[in-house]
Amino acid sequence: MSWLRHLSSKFSSTTITSTRRFTSLSRFSTSTAPARHAGLGPTQAHEKPRVVVLGSGWAGCRLMKGLDTAIYDVVCVSPRNHMVFTPLLASTCVGTLEFRTVAEPIARIQPAISREPGSYFFLANCTAIDADNHVVHCESVTEGAQAPDPWRFTVSYDKLVIALGAQPTTFGIHGVYEHAIFLREVYHAQEIRRKLLLNLMMSDVPGIEEEEKQRLLHCVVVGGGPTGVEFSGELSDFIVRDVRQRYAHVKDYIHVTLIEANEILSSFDVRLRQYATNQLTKSGVRLVRGIVKDVEEKKIILNDGTEVPYGLLVWSTGVGPSAIIRSLDLPKAPGGRIGIDEWLRVPTVEDIFSIGDCSGFVESTGKTPLPALAQVAERQGKYLGILLNKIGKANGGRANSAKDVDFGDQFVYKHMGSMASIGSYKALVDLRQNKEGKGLSLAGFVSWFIWRSAYLTRVISWRNRFYVAINWATTLVFGRDISRI
Ligand SMILES: Cc1cc2nc3c(=O)[nH]c(=O)nc-3n(C[C@H](O)[C@H](O)[C@H](O)COP(=O)(O)OP(=O)(O)OC[C@H]3O[C@@H](n4cnc5c(N)ncnc54)[C@H](O)[C@@H]3O)c2cc1C
Repeated sequence: MSWLRHLSSKFSSTTITSTRRFTSLSRFSTSTAPARHAGLGPTQAHEKPRVVVLGSGWAGCRLMKGLDTAIYDVVCVSPRNHMVFTPLLASTCVGTLEFRTVAEPIARIQPAISREPGSYFFLANCTAIDADNHVVHCESVTEGAQAPDPWRFTVSYDKLVIALGAQPTTFGIHGVYEHAIFLREVYHAQEIRRKLLLNLMMSDVPGIEEEEKQRLLHCVVVGGGPTGVEFSGELSDFIVRDVRQRYAHVKDYIHVTLIEANEILSSFDVRLRQYATNQLTKSGVRLVRGIVKDVEEKKIILNDGTEVPYGLLVWSTGVGPSAIIRSLDLPKAPGGRIGIDEWLRVPTVEDIFSIGDCSGFVESTGKTPLPALAQVAERQGKYLGILLNKIGKANGGRANSAKDVDFGDQFVYKHMGSMASIGSYKALVDLRQNKEGKGLSLAGFVSWFIWRSAYLTRVISWRNRFYVAINWATTLVFGRDISRI
């Protein structure tokens, strides 16, 4: 009867949790302001200090995972309730992996968010920060025709961590936002997959003209960094292994073109770059050196006047500070990211830290900018979690109370190397610490095996690790899923 005991204890704990949650609603201030402008007021002496985390990406999630919830309440504000495991996102665009495998719910990363009475996840965007009053302004995220209008609310913090990431750069090129698809979120990957499959099916419909067929099945990727290259590799695998079998009528029409202004994979060792160029060309990817001048609905125009018709356009030319980061009245690092010191604090304001792609060292630290990479974001999140726990244990967790706390060791970043898959069971592994440094660099099938093993072990939960392994095996045996759902 142990299952019955387990069930009844589960039931009673659920009841307690819901009662607690009901009680905790008193934390929200609704009395003086209209309900639609309520929020979480400053923490009281009998409550735990509150860490507010803006963003649920690599940096924010790693930080939340490490926070000691016996010391702090955690409030996360983000427009998505999951973290995206970006290194495997390109694989979901063509069905090598299912979308679920790269989405990790925040409540699984930090269970206190859904269990503790003072911890919350708010599906919202941060719109402003009032550093003087320790308050974050937010606007709820709602979608769909029947959804209520978004409303504003505020959240007071004892410690604030800005982990808002970055946004794709478009260099002000006209038409990119309107016609290209970025590859940063799960919904981008879903859009790419739907469009790719739609174009494949449309090009098979009787009556379609040759020229239109060619256009629909021309997939153009702009940007030859790791993301653009990995996506091109996945596409070419999809074409070679799946389209040729299951869309045999149109197999000779589908092509991939990768456009890059300089060299592809410029941060990798020259030998690896050459290998990737040869390999991609061998698998049918056309590499074009060019600068995009304009993007229209059905074609892009290069600087030299060349017109490139496309059916699918994926834009992956790096990232820069987002509009919210640019709008915040906080010290900035060269390049426009939020400025931070050696302990990841934002100088001149109290209790604000910033990590991940949205932050950079202020000039006075003399430190070089860190690359916009998950490994940087993750390590900053880990470091800051430990630091905040230390501050909390030294009674510095409350707002304006950490002035006398010794912060200890500074954050130091050591690059672990870079990896990129290039399709056809090949990958690059570059273990040099920087571009000029010495170190191991490998390319080929062994690298591909290292790439897969490394990312499989990095997937956050055992559940998703299992899903990824099963998806890889299923794809190997049965091919990719090509249903357009
Ligand atoms: C396809 C792809 C593949 C990649 N592969 C690799 C790789 O193999 N290795 C590697 O090291 N790096 C890789 N990267 C880079 C890596 O993903 C980023 O460096 C990393 O995600 C940065 O983490 P972050 O937490 O700073 O930002 P993000 O992970 O981008 O998270 C930002 C968070 O902020 C939220 N947010 C945005 N605006 C607001 C707002 N106004 N209010 C509240 N929340 C907001 C977002 O919803 C998101 O949750 C890849 C990136 C992509 C796109």
